[in-house]
Amino acid sequence: MQFEPVSRPTPRMPHAQTHELPTPVMPKCEARPLLKGQKALVTGASSGIGKSIALALGHAGADVCINYVAGADKAQAMVDELTGHGHSAFAHQADVSKEDQVVAMFDAIRDEFGTVDILINNAGLQQDAPIDQMSLAQWQKVIDVNLTGQFLCAREAVREFKRRGVKPEVSCAAGKIICISSVHEVIPWAGHVNYAASKGGVMLMMKSIAQEVAPFRIRVNSIAPGAIRTPINMQAWDTPEHYAELLKLIPYKRIGEPEEIGRAAVWLASDDSDYVQGTTLFVDGGMTLYPGFETGG
Ligand code: NAD
Repeated sequence: MQFEPVSRPTPRMPHAQTHELPTPVMPKCEARPLLKGQKALVTGASSGIGKSIALALGHAGADVCINYVAGADKAQAMVDELTGHGHSAFAHQADVSKEDQVVAMFDAIRDEFGTVDILINNAGLQQDAPIDQMSLAQWQKVIDVNLTGQFLCAREAVREFKRRGVKPEVSCAAGKIICISSVHEVIPWAGHVNYAASKGGVMLMMKSIAQEVAPFRIRVNSIAPGAIRTPINMQAWDTPEHYAELLKLIPYKRIGEPEEIGRAAVWLASDDSDYVQGTTLFVDGGMTLYPGFETGG
């Protein structure tokens, strides 16, 4: 007995038929002094995304405090790089999950810079395990750093922004908080329940703070990176095979570079985005667009 071949519709997306896709290129963007005279704190700023954000803020004219938890040499190298470009910077060691250390860090910034205008809540980590093998310590560590750490820094920043108020010659806003979230604030992530829970928590924490402090002209938003080339996810891009697998999740067909998060942070911290409040800016090459459907499903 013969069966009729199943008739399937031709995929609607042209690239599924031609494979003639343009080669990805990295944009060249000029730094503009959008943050001149502003004081910024970047947590976890001695590597990866935090490092790129700190450099981008510096190139945009901000004075930058480089927070780090370990590795004073790398933090000092960042300070040297920023000061080498004529920017003002200093390094401060603090574990963002420890209340006393966060309070002391904001005191240090007031001593050094007088105030803080921009907080970049970037410090974060992963401790991955299947749910039935995840220890309470692994769960707690990730929640402590990724969620509680962002709360503690945001609370100190809001206290400082309210104390100082708006200085129109510096910015239309009394202060800006940018939470570095993740596409995993909306995409569930098997084997990473602590991480996904922390980033989902950041999303509603950010929105709730944004709603509460908006009348004080304090702006609070998030950046949700997709796959960005940093040490945290090296196993996703370190070989051609791994990279090809990764691209299946990215409609824009290239990994993101840390500098691209830096540029987004400059814009979100600047008065160019003054009416943007309580939103998440996804910088993910379309990773949150259900890439499994990109050839028509
Ligand atoms: P990374 O490991 O290079 O940077 C994380 C930084 O946080 C490190 O410098 C680390 O020392 C610091 N840190 C860790 N615990 C800390 C603590 N208790 N106190 C202060 N600092 C601490 O990784 P990254 O990719 O640059 O990650 C930066 C942020 O971006 C994280 O919040 C991460 O969740 C987020 N993110 C990254 C990606 C990606 O693809 N790389 C994607 C989505 C979100």
